[in-house]
Amino acid sequence: MNLEATIMEFKAHLEKMKMYQSAMSVMSFDDATIAPKGATADRAKRNGFFAAELFALSTGEKMKSLLEALEPHKEELDVNTAAMYRLVKKNYDKSVKIPIDKIRAFRELTSKANDVWEKARKDNDFAAFAPYLRDIVAARKEMVEFVRTDDAPTYDYLLDDYEEGATMAMYDEYFAKVRAAIVPLLKGVMESKKKINYELVKMSVDIETQRKISEYAAKMVGYDLNRGYIGETAHPFCSTFSRNDVRITTRYDENDFLSSFYSILHECGHALYEQNTGEDIAGTVLARGVSMGIHESQSRFYENVIGRSKGFWEYATNGLKEILPQSYKDVTATEFYEAANLAGPSLIRVEADELTYSLHIMVRYEIERMLFTEDIDIMELPAIWNKKFEEYLGITPPNDAMGVLQDIHWSFGGMGYFPTYSIGSAYSAQFLSYMKREMDFDALVKKGDFATITAWLVDKIHRHGSIHTPKDLVHKIAGEQLNADYYVDYLNEKFKSLYEIQ
Ligand code: ZN
Repeated sequence: MNLEATIMEFKAHLEKMKMYQSAMSVMSFDDATIAPKGATADRAKRNGFFAAELFALSTGEKMKSLLEALEPHKEELDVNTAAMYRLVKKNYDKSVKIPIDKIRAFRELTSKANDVWEKARKDNDFAAFAPYLRDIVAARKEMVEFVRTDDAPTYDYLLDDYEEGATMAMYDEYFAKVRAAIVPLLKGVMESKKKINYELVKMSVDIETQRKISEYAAKMVGYDLNRGYIGETAHPFCSTFSRNDVRITTRYDENDFLSSFYSILHECGHALYEQNTGEDIAGTVLARGVSMGIHESQSRFYENVIGRSKGFWEYATNGLKEILPQSYKDVTATEFYEAANLAGPSLIRVEADELTYSLHIMVRYEIERMLFTEDIDIMELPAIWNKKFEEYLGITPPNDAMGVLQDIHWSFGGMGYFPTYSIGSAYSAQFLSYMKREMDFDALVKKGDFATITAWLVDKIHRHGSIHTPKDLVHKIAGEQLNADYYVDYLNEKFKSLYEIQ
């Protein structure tokens, strides 16, 4: 077969896989939103069936022969086809090198571990979860040995699963800067005489009104509802079926409308990225955000960099007050701005503010790092967790449920995942700085011209989908890599001014 025909067949095969993926996204969105509880077992069976079909397509004989046929020609491929080959080959190698019985055993272990973790958190019983966590760490270490191609640290392989090219060395340097800057800044905030009144924005807002606010916020930042949908779930998320169907969800709290307001802006950031991947790569494996860190940079950009800025509130306050109940008529733009930026130590990651969020992540990163580089006893984790919390945030969790047991991630083996949340924030500050070299960002926000800002992000990031590696993508924008200095400067500037710290 000639090269052209092979490429055509390769693309047709990928398209078929994409159809399965898209169908599975529709099903999982349905699972998370309106599917009846009574059908849980049916759905599990159906999901299992499609997952197995997809796995067969991505690792079977057909895929093997296509990749082998393309291998000698990989230098001759056009940019997009080369990117598809690279992505698919990487996934193929990872999937086929691990024996199927190991994958099955890991799936069983994590499924059990997830149930145990849920109960352990409820009962505040770390000891019940500990043996599962020990086994999960051992299993992940073992699986790295199957895919290992060099003598890089084991944890690097896990980090790479969630952020291609990320390494422990990179994160060590990153978190060292974050730690050195945010820990003293938080201390300054706590010692500041400036007091922010959050109660002002906690007057009751009924859910129907909040739904209108969601739509207002989504339209404001340019989320295309003609190619989108806003649903409701306990844990907000964004789900992509294709660039023309990108859905988000939120949850409502009657006494804290800002909570869903910011969750909408956050998910809109993810959705804008997905709605704006290039038309030239639509329907291919490249039509998706390139990595978790870059994806999170987009959600944080709309949520924090835009949504928690002073200019944003100067623009949005009036429009929002037209929807909000009368009780809000005297709240000023400054009061909204300050309430939206209330900072201080807290125990729960998902409720953390913009300033302290990365400290929560740092605790998890440092513990994961220990799990994969040191010989530590799992039973020591609660004590290590609490000590780090005291050191970085100045508070100690009253129990493990609000400490080491709070996140689901370790129970599904998601070690390496957490740091992407933090670098997302760092990248968002980095992109802001680049953007400011080309436009008057503050003025644009103040007049609500979010389209110009989004156009910059589309051009530099969104339209490229997964054509480049995350590192290459960032490098292409301004000739450098992840650099925590921008993030540190951004936080210092914002919170020193807000909290009147010298
Ligand atoms: Zn997110």
